[in-house]
Amino acid sequence: MAITDKIYVKNHQQLASQLETSFPKGAFKGATLDILFQGEGLAKLDDASRERVLDFAEDFMDCECQAAPHCGCPERKFITYLLELREQGLGPDAIVDVMTDDYMLYAYPGDVLSFLDNSIRTLEAVETLASVDGNREIERLAGERRNHLAR
Ligand SMILES: [Zn+2]
Repeated sequence: MAITDKIYVKNHQQLASQLETSFPKGAFKGATLDILFQGEGLAKLDDASRERVLDFAEDFMDCECQAAPHCGCPERKFITYLLELREQGLGPDAIVDVMTDDYMLYAYPGDVLSFLDNSIRTLEAVETLASVDGNREIERLAGERRNHLAR
């Protein structure tokens, strides 16, 4: 399962009751993207929630794909966001705190940790392949990113 399958909406029950409808707890479930982040119920949300829902939509759902928001862009952008937080030096617990402050989302720190470990392993594999191919530039870039994530 991708990390984006393990990102949840905080105060899920409360938001569902404000919207007078139900949607899944997973932030990147199709119905959540449709109902909560792109729905017409925004006006029914309290101010603080509405602001964060709008921020999420602006930051992760601003692509022009025909299939949006079911095009994979929101997930890719969110993964970039997580990696950037890590590169700023945040650990799994702090990353969860920041996503809650920013977007009213949460995850289990253990899942974030596994995601970061997997990302490092993926970069190691890229480095190895690039090295076998003699592609010094890719090898260097993958190594740099890996160092940023691993510190
Ligand atoms: Zn897209």
